[in-house]
Formats: sequence, C-alpha cells, structure tokens
Amino acid sequence: MKKIVMKFGGTSVATGENVRHVANIVSNTAKNGYGLVVVVSALEGVTDELFEAASQAQKAKQDYIQKFKQSILDRHVSVIRKAIKAKQINREIRKTIEGIIDELEKVLTGISYVGELTPKSRDYVLSFGERLSAPIVCGAIRDLKLQSQWFTGKDAGIVTDSNFGQADPLMNFTTHQLKERIEPLLGKHVIPVVSGYIAATQEGIVTTLGRGGSDYTATILAAALSVDEVWIWTDVDGLMTADPKTIPEARMLPELSYQEAAEMAIFGAKAMHPRALEPIIREKIPARIRNVFNPENPGTLISSDQTPKKTDAVKAVALIRDVAMINVGGAGMVGAPGSYARVLDVLSRSGVNVMMISAAVSEANISLVVRRNLLGRALSALEIAVLGKGLVSEVTSEDDVCVVAAMGAKMKGTLGVASRVFTAVANKGINIRMIAQGSSELNISFVVKEEDCVAVVRAIHEEFKLGKN
Ligand code: ASP
Ligand code: MG
Repeated sequence: MKKIVMKFGGTSVATGENVRHVANIVSNTAKNGYGLVVVVSALEGVTDELFEAASQAQKAKQDYIQKFKQSILDRHVSVIRKAIKAKQINREIRKTIEGIIDELEKVLTGISYVGELTPKSRDYVLSFGERLSAPIVCGAIRDLKLQSQWFTGKDAGIVTDSNFGQADPLMNFTTHQLKERIEPLLGKHVIPVVSGYIAATQEGIVTTLGRGGSDYTATILAAALSVDEVWIWTDVDGLMTADPKTIPEARMLPELSYQEAAEMAIFGAKAMHPRALEPIIREKIPARIRNVFNPENPGTLISSDQTPKKTDAVKAVALIRDVAMINVGGAGMVGAPGSYARVLDVLSRSGVNVMMISAAVSEANISLVVRRNLLGRALSALEIAVLGKGLVSEVTSEDDVCVVAAMGAKMKGTLGVASRVFTAVANKGINIRMIAQGSSELNISFVVKEEDCVAVVRAIHEEFKLGKN
C-alpha cells in the first residue's frame, strides 16, 4: 500500500463547503488504495485572531473575551453545519468544539487575571486553531462513510524542545511515538487527522512549530512513518517562476530540487514553511505542492532526483518588499577585529533580524537589510551603542528599497549568470544599491529602489525566458 501524508492549509478549510471538498479529496484518494494521514491547519485567519485575543486578554478585557468566544464559536459551528450532514456526527463534533472553546475561554480568562502573556501561554492560546479544525475535518470524512480519528500534535506523539513559538521536534522520540500511535491505524483503514502546527514538550506543555508550521507537522509525520510522498494542498498551483500578481507571465515550476525549494521557501514563497523540508530531505521523501481548488493539476514535485539542467541557471525570481537598507561606515572599522561582530551584536540584542549583509574588502562600511518596520529600532540601537565611539562614524538608511533574488541550483558553477542578471537590470537604466551572493551559489540577491522593483523582476524573468513561450 502506498502511503501519503496530506496537509491542507487554512484556505482549504476556510468554509464548510471547502471542508466538504477536502473530505472528498481525502475520500477519493483513499478509494484509490492509498494509506493516508491527514494534517490540517486552523480555519483561515483563526491563528491571527487567537494571537490578537491573547494580547487583548492580557489587558484584562472581560467583555472582549466573551465576544471573542461567541464569534469563534459561531464561525466553527457554521462550518460544521455545512461540512457534516449526518445528524449524529454533526452533534458529536459540535459538542467537542464547544468543550474546546470553553477551555479556550478559561485560558484567556486566566491570562487576563494574571495580566501576563508569556511565550508559553501564547502558544497554548495559538494551539486552539488547529485543535478546532482537526475534529471538524475528521467529522466531515466520517460523514462520507470512511473511518477517521483525530489527534492533536501532542496526542499523536510529536515531541519538541521548549523553544515556544518556534519549537523543533525531537525526532527520535517523536518517530517512536508516531509509529506506535499513528501507523497502526493505516493498516486498519482508519484515516488519522492530525492538527498541524502544534506539539508538546516532553513534560506535555503545548508548543507551536512557528507560523505556517502545519507543513512542518506534515513532513515530520512523513519522515517518521517513511511514507512514499507528502502532498501539501494549498491555494496555488505550485511554486512559480515569480509572483503572478507582479508578473502575469509567471509559470508554474513542475519540478524542483530540495535545495531550490528550500531557497524559495526562505525567500517567502508562501507555499512552504522554511524548515519543513528538513525531515524529508534526510529521508529522501518527495513532496508535491498541489492546488486544492484545481486538483487536476499535478503541482510542483520537490525531490532529490532533480539533476539541474543547463537552462536552470535562474529558475525563479523573488521580490521581497517592506525592507530597508542600513549603511554603517567608519574608518575605525578598518582592520579592527570584532567591528562587524559589534554591529551585528547590537542589532541582535535589540531584536532586529538581519536579512542580508554585504561588506567590501575595504572594511570601511557594511550594508545590511532589515524589515522596514524594524528600521527605527535598528537605527536608534546603532546610534546609542556604536555611533561616534571610534568605530563607526556614519549610519545612514534608505527605506524605499526592496530585495530581488534570482534563484536556481544550476547557478553554481555556471559562468556568466551574474553578468546576465546585472546586464538585464542595467539595460533598463536601473541602479543596483547592494549585492550579495552566498558561497552556496543558489541565489544572487540585490537591492534596488522600490519604484524599480517590478521592472527589475520582469527584466530577469525575460532574460532567462522564465515565462510561457
Ligand atoms: N495556523 C498556523 C498559522 O497560521 C499554522 C499553519 O497554517 O500552517 O501559522
Ligand atoms: Mg500556511
């Protein structure tokens, strides 16, 4: 029996109709003789709402909690109504949901009394989105006369470290438990529905795997159960050569290597959690990105057998907006050991993540890219800690820039890729503000003014003939 883990994202389960559609996909695949494990995200938008509710509760807003409870209950009940026809299953799942939402109310009330929200208690609140969606999807599958059982990530046996908000699995222990609790169901034709995104520490305290973490749950399960493939059902046809909203000619990529897919995930292709590929790379399990609203489309296959072709030097172009560039300069940095470390240390201490960095051999300046909403914090931290202290004499910034990244595995070792990229940009009369290419040679990233960004992406897309011919 071929085994498959299927993950359905938030939009796939956004409404009652969508949940039924998901249940039909599950049922059709099961009828084709596959052994299935289903992983689900929270209903679209619910995790964001829970995030907000946790912050509001901390400010002790009792009536807010009551209103929130009612709205989250209404939303889920209306989904159940459309997704599950059989009266008895409908009633049973509704009761389950009400019980879970009562618990959520208690947690929020607890937070409001203590007036304190910790990463631990926030994860507990965030876990409710998937705790609510899993029973509903399970009920909808049973409604189609298949056997199904739902699990939280914790009950399924996914154990993580205690890095709340961004936990990582302890794979050996997790594998052991998943094999014990989930695997036997496949042989009995019971379809397990596991809530994505959430797990627990060894002590049983709820953790989350980071936003978008349901993909990670799916690949953890896939690796532990050594399945044949993971299917990530989402609302796009697959990974694309560029964002079709920016470049209408963008094309779906039928095949990608793990490295290329990982690179694209890191550059913000919404289709995949950046860490999700790790468990399946180790086990060489292929992943498929598929469109739940267009299931005839085979999607993007991500696997280890992709030998890059010569034409794959640049396979996709990503655009990252909402960034800012900081230039730190000073003759005092030249030949001074630890000067770069000092600058980066100041930023990390103030909670600013550096997305891109470039420093020339002159050592007299260093350029950094950060999220635009963190620019103010970054500048004030640098000003207080390093400016005018002998090391750095100048800190300037530009907040009207964006990052463009050209990606492709065959870039490595292919001559002339950078020159083609930069010539294409120069031919449009556009100036490049900063450049970085890591030694992995999987991407060339550079900064241009925001007003030029679409023209730049288009120029590279055309130069490497990425669109439909
Ligand atoms: N519901 C979680 C989130 O929004 C996890 C996921 O959707 O993958 O981040
Ligand atoms: Mg997601």
